[in-house]
Amino acid sequence: MRIAVISDIHANLAAFEAVIADFGEVDEVWCLGDVIGYGPDPNECVERLRRLPRFVCLPGNHDYAALGLIDVRDFNPVARTAAIWTREQLTDENASYLERLPQTLVRDDFFLVHASPRQPIWEYVLEESQAAENLAFFDTPYCLLGHSHIPLVFRERPNQSRNPMGRFMGKPGIEVSLGDERMIINPGSVGQPRDRDARAAYGLIDLEERTFEFRRVEYDIAATQRKMADAGLPKPLAERLAVGW
Ligand code: ZN
Repeated sequence: MRIAVISDIHANLAAFEAVIADFGEVDEVWCLGDVIGYGPDPNECVERLRRLPRFVCLPGNHDYAALGLIDVRDFNPVARTAAIWTREQLTDENASYLERLPQTLVRDDFFLVHASPRQPIWEYVLEESQAAENLAFFDTPYCLLGHSHIPLVFRERPNQSRNPMGRFMGKPGIEVSLGDERMIINPGSVGQPRDRDARAAYGLIDLEERTFEFRRVEYDIAATQRKMADAGLPKPLAERLAVGW
């Protein structure tokens, strides 16, 4: 069984379509939230997701901001402008779909969440210490999360009580073997990567081989930037796509 793990599409349809084409036929797609926010195609991305044959999805902070479930005053000014624009665009049907999503899910050996097991919508898991603290908040061997837009692996280090979790970057092509150590894995962001690689990021799980592979895909960044300009979305949000930050 092959599973595509996607996160943080952020209303970037060109990136999303490139990722869908790249993973091809999979048994399931697991989407870790922030389908919308920042980018120019919020409705199109929600509808494209919902046309996938077999998938699950969780909500992220930008989805909640567009729904009015969290306060956009907590966002920086450009994110806030985009969140308000997104809220105006979103159809009632797509809004009620996003509103119904569960904040956490367990699939097979994996706990799925947008931000962190202990704070499903808000915490950025970037440090080993945070990863270690979060181990107590899920029961499965592995956790998949998004939110930071950085492809990362935190792997348990048995017998190291001072630093129980090691960390490494999920560079493209790296295949992590799903072994006995517990892990927290972030596949990176489809629609707004922040690791200085502008290509769309996602992960592929092979349940028979017991592997998680980090993948990157080129997409038409200029097309997304043009749509953002036409929509009047803040310029820095379009510019950052070209540098992957
Ligand atoms: Zn995000």
